Amino acid sequence: MRDLGSVTGSWRRTAAGAGLQDTAGDVLPTIFAEMSALAARTGAINLGQGFPDEDGPAAVLEEARRAIADGVNQYPPGRGIPELRRAIADHQRHWYGLSPDPDRDVLVTAGATEALSAALLALTDGPADEVVVFEPFYDSYAACVALAGARLVRVRLHRTATGFAPDPDELTAAVTDRTRIILVNDPHNPTGAVFSRELQQQIVALAHRHDTLIITDEVYEHLRFDSDHVPIASLPGAWERTLTVSSGGKTFSTTGWKIGWISGPAPLIEAVLAVKQFLTYVNGAPFQPAIATGLRLPDEYFVQIATAMRAKSDVLATGLGGAGFDVIPSHGTYFTVADAAPLGATEAAAFCRSLPGRAGVVAIPLTAFVTPEHRGEYATLVRFAACKRIEVLQDAAARLAGLARP
Ligand SMILES: *Cc1c(COP(=O)(O)O)cnc(C)c1O
Repeated sequence: MRDLGSVTGSWRRTAAGAGLQDTAGDVLPTIFAEMSALAARTGAINLGQGFPDEDGPAAVLEEARRAIADGVNQYPPGRGIPELRRAIADHQRHWYGLSPDPDRDVLVTAGATEALSAALLALTDGPADEVVVFEPFYDSYAACVALAGARLVRVRLHRTATGFAPDPDELTAAVTDRTRIILVNDPHNPTGAVFSRELQQQIVALAHRHDTLIITDEVYEHLRFDSDHVPIASLPGAWERTLTVSSGGKTFSTTGWKIGWISGPAPLIEAVLAVKQFLTYVNGAPFQPAIATGLRLPDEYFVQIATAMRAKSDVLATGLGGAGFDVIPSHGTYFTVADAAPLGATEAAAFCRSLPGRAGVVAIPLTAFVTPEHRGEYATLVRFAACKRIEVLQDAAARLAGLARP
């Protein structure tokens, strides 16, 4: 009989090699799990993990209930139901002037997360291939690049008076002929940055110069506060080499449904499908028509969610400022970053562990999104989620105000 110990032993080495387990073979708990557990234990307000505390539009929820009642409960087609793929294509035409073919250029996935992991696995080929990411980054990016066996190259977003942005020269230096993919996240989690037109143009120009692909995670496309979203795929010369990823989770407050999608040139979508079919195959049959309904909601819905999130973000930022944090302006997403140094913090993780006891609020240290070598630059920065009811944010602000009092 095969020794199970050696099987699990080699499996452990694989996952540890990707940085997903410690050397004892334990799954590394994410900071989100640790902080959510801390919130549950202490009764603190959880502004850590980014999930809304209110339901999304009634028409979307009702469509899912109807679909279940009507028997839409078996495997949907591998690419997603045609109705949803058409809704995705029509949404991109309506909002951005893009014209993906719903039958060839669009693939429905198990959330944006699967779209990103399938694309990274499909389109990189081992350690010679580099993936350029903007750091701090969403935690699944580095894990998927590691699982794909590719090399992660980081371009830091630096703090400025108006938000976070990369240094154009550092970006130029990071992209080389070894680069296979430039991975964009716009609007950006965790910083709330949006990419300027000049930055987008630079990325497209670098992609041409070094013959790379662009993968862009735009799950916050409808949560921008002070300007309209422009997908990088809509820039001249970008479509042919860009895969755009989005999801219904953030736009319709249905983060537990995991209906995402990826769109771009048919040959690239074929490659992603080849991997995706062996990850989940398909998912969420009754949620697919519901998200199609969501994507066809009137424009007012999309305008209103941006306005509402901006109002929430403002309440949070005002509260953080009043408590003594130095707030870095957020231009979109669920998140706002604040510097805890004026409150005496020297290390954000320790500060966040003490925050439930000191103020009854949970937040996430920005260092959780940064590789160890670069943590110094972000050492005292903390990410707060604004995707909660206004009363909850006001309560959090009142609690945080206690930090400012001696
Ligand atoms: C929430 C989030 C995702 C995950 O989207 P799902 O559709 O839930 O998989 C991906 N990228 C970013 C930047 C996110 O914030």
